[in-house]
Amino acid sequence: MKLLLWAGVIVAVIWILRSKKSSKAAPPKTPPPAPTQAPSAAGEAEKMLSCAYCGTHFPASEAVSGSSNLVFCSDEHRRQYLAR
Ligand SMILES: [Zn+2]
Repeated sequence: MKLLLWAGVIVAVIWILRSKKSSKAAPPKTPPPAPTQAPSAAGEAEKMLSCAYCGTHFPASEAVSGSSNLVFCSDEHRRQYLAR
């Protein structure tokens, strides 16, 4: 009687493994891609500054500060502004 019980268990295990395999053949559940949001872009709008040399607007994080309250879009423009 014990042997029959074991046989039943083995058959059940094989059946479970087979059903798992077949379910694996189906396209795997992939979590939806989390929307990657840049914290700086998604958050508050970055302050825009105007280059004292060329007038181009650029984010404050890229500003090159010169003398007094002047800001420039690049170090090149800072030097050209101070040279003239
Ligand atoms: Zn500039």
